[in-house]
Amino acid sequence: MRKNPIFATIDYNSHGVQHGYLRLPYSRNDSAWGAIHIPITQVKNGIGACALLTGANHGDEYEGPLALVELAATLKPEDVSGTVIIIPFMNHPAFLAGTRVSPIDDLNMNRAFPGQPDGSPTQKIADYFQRTLLPMADVVLDFHSGGKTLDFLPFAASHALDDPEQQARCRAARDAFNAPFSIEMREIDALGMYDDAVESQGKTFVTTELGGGGTATPDTAEIARKGVRNLLIHAGILAGELTIAPSRLLSQEDDDCFHVTNHSGLVDFAVALGQSVTKGDLIARIWDTQHTGILPRSVFALMDGIVTARHHPGLVQPGDCLAVLATEATP
Ligand code: ZN
Repeated sequence: MRKNPIFATIDYNSHGVQHGYLRLPYSRNDSAWGAIHIPITQVKNGIGACALLTGANHGDEYEGPLALVELAATLKPEDVSGTVIIIPFMNHPAFLAGTRVSPIDDLNMNRAFPGQPDGSPTQKIADYFQRTLLPMADVVLDFHSGGKTLDFLPFAASHALDDPEQQARCRAARDAFNAPFSIEMREIDALGMYDDAVESQGKTFVTTELGGGGTATPDTAEIARKGVRNLLIHAGILAGELTIAPSRLLSQEDDDCFHVTNHSGLVDFAVALGQSVTKGDLIARIWDTQHTGILPRSVFALMDGIVTARHHPGLVQPGDCLAVLATEATP
């Protein structure tokens, strides 16, 4: 396969702290010999596991970038046994634009894996993770939140995996992250996801959804900061004690958890994040935006559960995911 065109300005084999860039050549109208510069920090010291930490896989999600810029600015080699690779803005063009997908190629990083070394910028970044960064890592954390169009209960997630040993490792890492909620997550559309690329290489993987609406709050940013420290302690890379608070365990076992609207309009939620609902309960009413005097369409719960995600903007279109339910599980 072709060599990936990305050049790292840091040396992955060197010990100590290095701040640099993943330099992706990108020739364009305003810079003929220009490049996309994705900031990267590596902190390496002694023998130990390698953690790969990413934020802004989607450009409008902020808890991961907040936790990771702080970690990159403060982590010292003497604190570390092993290697920490920190990339706060994985899809840097999308992050700078404040958009979910890249404004350059309109591609969603989390649907672009395994990527292409001769593809568009997002595909090239994905290929660099797939073939260069992931093989170096033992533990991988990829921060997500709801972005501008979804809002989530703050949770850390693992997935159901074919290998029970790997699944147990991922669950243990998720529980060490210790978000207020922990979940075995079901994906609405897993094809091309970074999650799948990481898990297929046998790595210990934790992902999150820590809020949303295109911003972060003091609480959700703190969940991210605490979670990444806990994960590094769990991996034996940082010394110290885990900071553990109660976490409610959730699971998503069938596709009825996804509640999709067939209509456009003004959404009138009857339930809030974290609320328990029973099958048949009203989730939301959708009001017509072109006419008055018309009664709304109703969307009802397809199962019993807790509202773990909801559509954030006030208007919806056919096919929008309005709400996602999960059931409380016993650890
Ligand atoms: Zn995301």
